[in-house]
Amino acid sequence: PSEVVASPFQSFLNDLHLKYQSLRDGKVATYIPELAKANPDLFGICAIALDGRVFEVGDCHQLFTIQSISKVFVYGMVLEDRGRDYVLSKVGVEPTGDAFNAIVLDESSKRPYNPMVNAGAIATTSLIKGAGPTERLNRMLDMFRRYIGHNDIFIDISVFMSERTTGHRNRAMAHLMHHFGMIDEKIDEAIDLYFQQCSLMVNCHDLAVMAATLANNGINPITGEQAVDSSYVKDILSVMYTCGMYNYAGEWAYKVGLPAKSGISGGIIVVVPNQIGIAVFSPLLDERGNSVRGVKVCEELSRHFGLHMFDLA
Ligand code: GLU
Repeated sequence: PSEVVASPFQSFLNDLHLKYQSLRDGKVATYIPELAKANPDLFGICAIALDGRVFEVGDCHQLFTIQSISKVFVYGMVLEDRGRDYVLSKVGVEPTGDAFNAIVLDESSKRPYNPMVNAGAIATTSLIKGAGPTERLNRMLDMFRRYIGHNDIFIDISVFMSERTTGHRNRAMAHLMHHFGMIDEKIDEAIDLYFQQCSLMVNCHDLAVMAATLANNGINPITGEQAVDSSYVKDILSVMYTCGMYNYAGEWAYKVGLPAKSGISGGIIVVVPNQIGIAVFSPLLDERGNSVRGVKVCEELSRHFGLHMFDLA
């Protein structure tokens, strides 16, 4: 395990953790029983600098399913697999003010709006290359391994199964997109792969390494391995910036001013380009699906350290 560094930044994280641990606002996700079982007290904050220094406090080694945060990394993989122009012809890059699971496609192009909402993420996943479901899954897991930097990764089968048996809304969207030619006929394969990607187990520390890899232009700062072609990092960060925080993305961009992505299990990743990757985990969510403590922590970090990308003062 990497060493946690004592520093003013670490003390600031400790203080934030102490301050918000008692905040009990929000609710854990309940759309599947597995997520409803989440412990609302769990709370971790981890930041990884590009020189490998680790700052962490709280429950940073507790595993949970990555959920929507996976969308960011799969988007990068598909850009590599298919190229920017082809991917853009199937999935837009336009923010929606709608909820993440809205059944809505762009009126004129019939594309899903962006790769961070469910429709766009399912279309994105359908573009992963591979001869069959096993090869596609293995390629996806290899991609996640490069970001996470260790081999010990797995998919939570009970979350996967329950997403799969209850995921009618996502399945409906996939069929609609197939109707409009946005995803091919292997609809069930794409949906299964999407539920598998959402059910990948990670901890807050893993997520911070993944965020730091994006901050480091696609190179994992711990292992030195290239996780994604650097030429696509700006595409990934742009959609995170405009669409990463559900229908709070605009306000987030205004207040925090950093590319980020949150997931329904309570994780948030934040990328400070060329500096640091940050992850917060706390399963209590606000009505838009963002971690309540996570949003508070990131707002304070950005304000205190002047991290907003347009903070030119
Ligand atoms: N598996 C979830 C779904 O597709 C992901 C939700 C999320 O994290 O936003 O509904």
